[in-house]
Amino acid sequence: MAIQLQQAGIRDIVILERADAVGGTWRDNRYPGAACDIPSNLYSYSFAQNPNWSRSFSGSGEILDYIHYLVSHFNLAPYIRFKQNVTGLNFDENAGLWHASIEGGDTVRARAVVMAQGPLSNAIFPDIAGLEKYKGHTIHSARWDHDYDFSNKRVAVIGTGASAVQIIPELVKQAGFVKVFQRTPGWVLPRPDFETPEWNKALFRKFPGTQDALRKALYVTHESMALAVIWNSPLTRIAERIGRLHLRRQVKDRWLRRQLTPDFRIGCKRVLLSNDYYPALQQPNCKLVTWPIDRLSEQGIRTAEGIEHQFDCIVFATGFDVCKTGTPFPITGLGGRALHDEWARGAQAYKSINVAGYPNLFLTFGPNSGPGHNSALVYMESQLDYAVRGIQKILDEDLKMLDVKADAQAAHNKAIQARLANTNWNSGCKSWYLTEDGHNVTMYPGFATQYALQMRTLDEADYRRTPMAGG
Ligand code: NAP
Repeated sequence: MAIQLQQAGIRDIVILERADAVGGTWRDNRYPGAACDIPSNLYSYSFAQNPNWSRSFSGSGEILDYIHYLVSHFNLAPYIRFKQNVTGLNFDENAGLWHASIEGGDTVRARAVVMAQGPLSNAIFPDIAGLEKYKGHTIHSARWDHDYDFSNKRVAVIGTGASAVQIIPELVKQAGFVKVFQRTPGWVLPRPDFETPEWNKALFRKFPGTQDALRKALYVTHESMALAVIWNSPLTRIAERIGRLHLRRQVKDRWLRRQLTPDFRIGCKRVLLSNDYYPALQQPNCKLVTWPIDRLSEQGIRTAEGIEHQFDCIVFATGFDVCKTGTPFPITGLGGRALHDEWARGAQAYKSINVAGYPNLFLTFGPNSGPGHNSALVYMESQLDYAVRGIQKILDEDLKMLDVKADAQAAHNKAIQARLANTNWNSGCKSWYLTEDGHNVTMYPGFATQYALQMRTLDEADYRRTPMAGG
């Protein structure tokens, strides 16, 4: 966002970061095996391509290095204030200014605010009875304890989602014994991961057009995956067949195979990509436990059939508190309206980026902007461009308020929810995409290209503009 604002000539920017370093999810998710399951050539900005990715799916360390490179190359450090935990946002409608309250008492005032706090940033421990009773070591996947020595330790992993399938193969190499507690088996597809040869990097450096071409090819390939992942189509059946073949090829034991076979449509939950998860589960020092967890005890985990499994350490790969029915901190808009209350039954916005009654506020990864099949950064880039256009308008026209109209927002959401009804996400499984009552407020029901196209224009007819002088 800061790069794009800078390039549009807007330099009066402040970035409020609650941690003490940049990197977001790639700073926090440093568990062994952490990597992106979107190819690096697509999981990077089109305006800052990196010809030196070491693998097709680079690890978290390399992605973090890329973010550090962006900060230094685009000279962003002067804008960033670390250890600034925002505790509230308040719109002063007389002055047309947002007030951001910071923990400790400071306030920052701004003509416009971009929310870029990330939907998957607050790690959660599950609501399991006895959680506080357990006396051993606990680690959350997104807050890894790099000082803990796993050798000879009895370790439990709770969860078998995208984080867990990356952690388990590495943990099995390090720990004495690993028990994996699975509640729902996911669809696992092979990951076409390979090292980038030196000649390939040299080619990208010398002829950047070749990297552009690869990026475009990856983009189109991922776009076609939408037909399998988002909607129920013949391609969905093919993807499921590949998943079953992958399982059969890697797991010979029929009972284990049955335990690992998903009972929901592919795409409904996030598709997992791994070549080493199934082999890791079959190592002599690893065991899959499918009995439901009843409670945690002082020593470990008690499962529903009454067995107590004792552990030195429990790894929680149990995901994040995704703000689907509220906001990460109180946000107060026009007339004292509170976004937390308005979103109590599910978040909604206009084109995922603006909310009626909260002028000059732009969301990144706002409601219904999540991708299931393509790079998040493709969606992100179109949000950044849109926000720049909006902010430029506020500054150029000296607007006190640029506020989306409530009826435009309502019409947008009606259409989005109607399209979501026929997607695989809404086909009956439970996932972090849905609210408790099954409302999908996270995913965008379409191709990335459709999303980007709708973000290309800021339709003035859908906004109320209030000039500064006019009051
Ligand atoms: P997640 O997908 O929410 O998975 C959480 C896991 O914990 C699930 O297997 C869930 O089981 C299990 N779980 C939760 N509460 C439980 C309980 N009380 N008892 C037993 N099991 C419980 O979290 P995640 O794996 O951290 O991934 C979150 C998201 O981060 C992903 O969907 C993806 O968007 C992103 N991510 C991306 C990458 C990447 O490579 N790009 C890597 C990691 C994560 P159920 O399925 O039964 O609920």
